[in-house]
Amino acid sequence: MADRLKGLFILPLLLGGMVSPLCAAWVSGEEAIMGTRIKAEVWHEDESQGRAAIESVMQEFRRLDRKLSPSIETSEIAQVNRKAADEPVPISAEFYQLLKTSLRYSTLTKGAFDITFASIGHRYDYRQGIRPSSEQVKLTIPLIDYRHIRLVPDNSAVSFKHAGVRIDLGGIAKGYAVDRGIALLEKRGIRHALISAGGDSRLLGDHKGRPWHIGIQAPRDKQAMAAVLPLADSAVSTSGDYERYFESDGIRYHHIISPDTGRSADSLQSVTIIGPDATRTDALSTGIFVLGAEAGMALINRLEAFEAVIVDNQGKMSTSDGLANLGVGKKSKAANGR
Ligand code: AMP
Ligand code: MG
Repeated sequence: MADRLKGLFILPLLLGGMVSPLCAAWVSGEEAIMGTRIKAEVWHEDESQGRAAIESVMQEFRRLDRKLSPSIETSEIAQVNRKAADEPVPISAEFYQLLKTSLRYSTLTKGAFDITFASIGHRYDYRQGIRPSSEQVKLTIPLIDYRHIRLVPDNSAVSFKHAGVRIDLGGIAKGYAVDRGIALLEKRGIRHALISAGGDSRLLGDHKGRPWHIGIQAPRDKQAMAAVLPLADSAVSTSGDYERYFESDGIRYHHIISPDTGRSADSLQSVTIIGPDATRTDALSTGIFVLGAEAGMALINRLEAFEAVIVDNQGKMSTSDGLANLGVGKKSKAANGR
């Protein structure tokens, strides 16, 4: 990216002081960060400024990855996981706020969204097909409980009540990073943009006079869409059992873990949440995936700013009241090839 930027900045010098005309354009960029593809697309009056804006978004994602990835030894979260059972660990204001938001969503989803899932979650390796034994799961379940996390507001610190508790912000961090990216673009005066990080996207404004069209993948057919949503100024997050998984003896082991069982939540194939910002749609999509269709839809219908599209484990699609009124999901079978 830096090399491409250099090229663009040199161009006006080559023009020998001539005033270079501004060229309004859609500019897009893509990079692998946080274990997923980050995409950004902005409309800018000046293409080179648009590219600089995209680079600032990618930089922000890289910064958050260094801070929030449990597998980076020097990250803030890795330090907390190493020490917080022994003593309160001072943390940055940003990390503190993210923990606070996570705990709020644990309460709201009655413990379905729970970042201490990582107490057992770190024993799964989806690429290598590794999962914990039944004995390990049984012993670890008591360590999965968001109430084991104690936040100390006075000196901005965190401690864990028991040895063996671990946290992982994988269910909320990408949404948060998307929101941070959008805030950076807004500061630069950008009015039309999209940032997506795997299953979490946010749209700033519309696509210049028409809505953005955001597809919801059919869970069992990579090539097909379960639905397409015309949206502007919204965030959309999808959690699916097809994103990271392996199969063994006919059972699908995927990355969304039920805190009650320590195993992959199995009542749904995907949950899509639409709302005002990606931090909240991200936490809700993961939490509702665990909660299931009935309790999950009831929760969304109570929350004014949020809508949901849920595909259950038979491939049947349902929508929250606000979307049903718009006619989304009228064909209630998702094109899922089951
Ligand atoms: P998403 O794709 O946003 O649903 O995020 C899935 C990620 O959330 C997983 O890869 C885990 O890092 C994390 N996760 C899994 N189960 C839970 C859970 N019950 N509560 C919170 N985060 C979870
Ligand atoms: Mg999520």
